[in-house]
Amino acid sequence: MSGNTPITVAYGDGIGPEIMTAGLDILKAAGARLDIHVIEVGEKVYLAGNPAGVSADAWDSIRRTKVFYKAPITTPQGGGYKSLNVTTRTTFGLYANVRPCVAYAPFVRTKHPGMDVVIVRENEEDVYGGIEYRQTQDMTECLKLISRPGSEKIVRFAFEYARRNSRKKVTCFTKDNIMKITDGTFHRIFDQVSAQYPDIQNEHWIVDIGSAKLADTPEAFDVIVMPNLYGDILSDVAAQIAGSVGLAGSANIGDTAAMFEAIHGSAPRRAGQNVANPSGLLLGGVLMLVHIGQGEIATKVHNAWLKTIEDGIHTYDIFQAGLSKEKVGTHEFAQAVIARIGQAPSTLKRVEYPAAAPHEAASVVSTRKAEKKNLVGVDVFLDLPRGVPDELGQRLQPAAGDLKLAAIFNRGTKVWPGGAAETFCTDHWRCRFVSKTAGAVIAHGQILGLLGRVADAGFDFIKTENLYDFDGKAGYS
Ligand code: NAD
Repeated sequence: MSGNTPITVAYGDGIGPEIMTAGLDILKAAGARLDIHVIEVGEKVYLAGNPAGVSADAWDSIRRTKVFYKAPITTPQGGGYKSLNVTTRTTFGLYANVRPCVAYAPFVRTKHPGMDVVIVRENEEDVYGGIEYRQTQDMTECLKLISRPGSEKIVRFAFEYARRNSRKKVTCFTKDNIMKITDGTFHRIFDQVSAQYPDIQNEHWIVDIGSAKLADTPEAFDVIVMPNLYGDILSDVAAQIAGSVGLAGSANIGDTAAMFEAIHGSAPRRAGQNVANPSGLLLGGVLMLVHIGQGEIATKVHNAWLKTIEDGIHTYDIFQAGLSKEKVGTHEFAQAVIARIGQAPSTLKRVEYPAAAPHEAASVVSTRKAEKKNLVGVDVFLDLPRGVPDELGQRLQPAAGDLKLAAIFNRGTKVWPGGAAETFCTDHWRCRFVSKTAGAVIAHGQILGLLGRVADAGFDFIKTENLYDFDGKAGYS
């Protein structure tokens, strides 16, 4: 039937095939209009010698349908295998990871009965570029990249999500008291975008105390938007404290494609026994139905599932004597949900999704204001074992030439001039050179000359970072 939406489905490994069968049975029984293209990904593909775990045909299918419903897969032990999730995310630009973390008290045990938090995690930037270096024998480095458009996309996505789902508040977590430039950018963009959504409350927490508050009083939060690393950690914390790791689904959304899944893995020890809980994958499927504009079916499926949980029909992982009524297997659980299609919960909060497909979040709408960028100095990093700050300053000053050696830092602490004798120094030194005239612009050629003199003086320079002012404001720490 032409009204069907084509989707790509992977049955995955371990418990994957059982929970995917259960999930699709429920979606179909509720009337989901889907054209299913099955692809093979995961363990078999990895072991057949494909390090990405996915074949060229499978990529083509996802590229064509733009919607990928994926059961968990097993990543074989040992090196050389790339995470399929990471590859899919980066290949298709799935910049938003959305993970609803909900408590189902009193039917599923939880410490936080009122919890209903959605974590929106930026998926492409931050330290996940995996750009790492070993620069000296003792020092390693990982680049944390946070861009203005990357931040705007995810923050705008969070507010659009909140508006569409009748959420009241969006909270931002960053560590911009320390990372004033990278996390500072994320926070600043949050402030700018939030001003365009006056109907939704907004607030910012420093990620450490925010996490403590989330773990203690998750009821205080609604939607939380975060850079990649904090989001990775806190989305697991949030799912765990909701009491429902096996019950949570997740969406990875990009401008051209999207992937939907459960948050748990392939649980190989439980495979083939008809015991696994299909709920996480099913709720991932609900997010998929909303995404493809079948909100009325998503509503039916989700409410039938809530009613099943409320009726105490539970798989082993959430079964609690006294709380639960019947312990069932994967297949029987699916049949119980199917039998309740058209019903809604009476104690748990029923859901209602908008019928239409979400308006594609206009990801980057702000225009880039041209800023005047001036080169005002350079940090030259040196590998120097057993260096002594005052001696290094003395040896390096003559190499400064037409520039001035302004300061030397070790791991971010200024050690010259006027450092403290107690400061522990590694073999990794940041030496800052600026113009002899305070605040004046320098030329790239001066940096090249400087590096030649530094090398001639016998130093191993391991990298440089140019220092720029933007509209007169320092763009460096
Ligand atoms: P896991 O999530 O598979 O299992 C952790 C524990 O939870 C196990 O005790 C398991 O029995 C239980 N469990 C998980 N899902 C369940 C369900 N639906 N119903 C009932 N019980 C369930 O984590 P793991 O054991 O660390 O990883 C196993 C494999 O899964 C590894 O190969 C890992 O790489 C992979 N994995 C894949 C994904 C993914 O595809 N998105 C995510 C995480 C882990």
